[in-house]
Amino acid sequence: MAVAIDSEHGLFIDGQVVEAASGELRDVFEPATGNVLGRAAMAGEADVDRAVEAARAALEGPWGRTAPTERSRLLHALADAIAANRKELAELESRNVGKAISSVKAEIAGAAENFRFFASALGTIGGRSTPVGGSLLSYTLKEPVGVCGQIVPWNYPLLMAVWKLSPALAAGCSVVLKPDPQTPLSVLRLAELANEVGFPAGTINIVPGDGPGAGAYLVRHPGVDKVAFTGSTRTGSEIMRLCSEPIKRLTLELGGKSPNLVFADAKLDDAIPSSVWSIYYAAGQSCEARSRVLVEKSLYDEFVARFADYAQRLRVGDPLDAETQVGSLISTAHRDRVHGFVERGIAEGAEVVTGGEPRTGAGAFYRPTVLAGVENSMEVAQEEIFGPVVTVIPFEDEQDAIRIANDVRYGLFATVWTGDPARGHRVAARIKSGMVGINMPFTAFPGIPFGGYKQSGFGRELSVEALDSYLETKGVLVSTSAKPFNPFGL
Ligand code: NAD
Repeated sequence: MAVAIDSEHGLFIDGQVVEAASGELRDVFEPATGNVLGRAAMAGEADVDRAVEAARAALEGPWGRTAPTERSRLLHALADAIAANRKELAELESRNVGKAISSVKAEIAGAAENFRFFASALGTIGGRSTPVGGSLLSYTLKEPVGVCGQIVPWNYPLLMAVWKLSPALAAGCSVVLKPDPQTPLSVLRLAELANEVGFPAGTINIVPGDGPGAGAYLVRHPGVDKVAFTGSTRTGSEIMRLCSEPIKRLTLELGGKSPNLVFADAKLDDAIPSSVWSIYYAAGQSCEARSRVLVEKSLYDEFVARFADYAQRLRVGDPLDAETQVGSLISTAHRDRVHGFVERGIAEGAEVVTGGEPRTGAGAFYRPTVLAGVENSMEVAQEEIFGPVVTVIPFEDEQDAIRIANDVRYGLFATVWTGDPARGHRVAARIKSGMVGINMPFTAFPGIPFGGYKQSGFGRELSVEALDSYLETKGVLVSTSAKPFNPFGL
């Protein structure tokens, strides 16, 4: 189904598509062409108030009374609806983000699988009874944490929303979710599908809007019990500050500068193409993009040459073409930011092996770029560029590789390529990151905890740990004594 160009999209509050109180509609673009894709309502404070109120009413009303088995059924029904509408969702997402349709199709499939995982995982919610001696009986209750304010970025608008919504809904929470104002369309459609399959009105509310405006207001809102954020480390820090005064529950999924370690004993025919994929899929706009490739010195020149040869041959272009491997970046402003990093890297001494400039013509395209001769202390090796730019850094030995891998403020993901299984496990244990892949480039699987060490944040997605972060634990103590208590001896 083709997306209607210049279509108008409202907010989604209390089970209905509604206008923003301010009446504001903002253009939403197709970054690969620069054309307007549609116009979306932008939420302000009054809209966030309405959404939080609806979420509270759902929690205290029909959604709060929905039994776990029915929550599970609804999550499966939403997964079915995503699968049934996958073509429409994939086209919408690909056009709005500029990302290659082949990757987006996998993201949509992943979104459905996520809901299925949490539809099953909610069966694990349960308390326990611990013997405390005497005539006391104890048990714990697991309760939904309440109304959740969730904020997601533009790089995977639907998938990041689903990573947040699925554990929250499984736990029985209601949600007000704020997508990035550049990419609100797919998650607005998701909310409509949730409504169609029977989620009670107010359970899921979507309020696209500006970060420092609607976003910060949602974080501070006294009706919001927990905040879950995915985005940059800088914004995460500001959100943490806003949550500190009211002691609000918070989980943060932030940036990364993930290393990809290639030892000389690795199977290079796997390691090199996989390393190419690990940075350039989603045009490098992934938090776990392996943007620092660390290569054993004896292999360095051969690795750089073979890697650059693959990078040069990647098919960059129309996101809707099934053959495209790298689409456009999210905007020309972001493309220029990426180019600024490359220019400063060159000034610091990095050598451009391939790429290093925007693609000419319309759209926010940037050529897959390889920077060699990089020191780990340079800005291009320390800061998240969030574009199709890789830095290749040599290391001496295992010790040196681990030192360089950990010498960064982030700790989200790491990949290790080695022919020595013992070394793979040894290195995995010493790397300070939330996840490590050994001889395997892929990063996200429902059931496997996804999240960061250090300034990549705290809390985990995709897993029973995520479910637990949307639950409070209450301890209950009961006297089974036949005798009355009289502790003061009165
Ligand atoms: P960003 O921090 O600028 O924006 C993310 C979201 O926060 C947007 O919805 C934005 O509107 C909102 N926001 C901005 N300022 C705010 C404020 N003061 N208060 C409340 N909300 C505010 O990030 P971005 O550039 O849009 O996204 C890219 C970043 O997201 C990268 O750093 C990337 O690594 C990170 N990311 C992390 C993960 C993960 O799982 N760790 C996944 C995807 C993206």
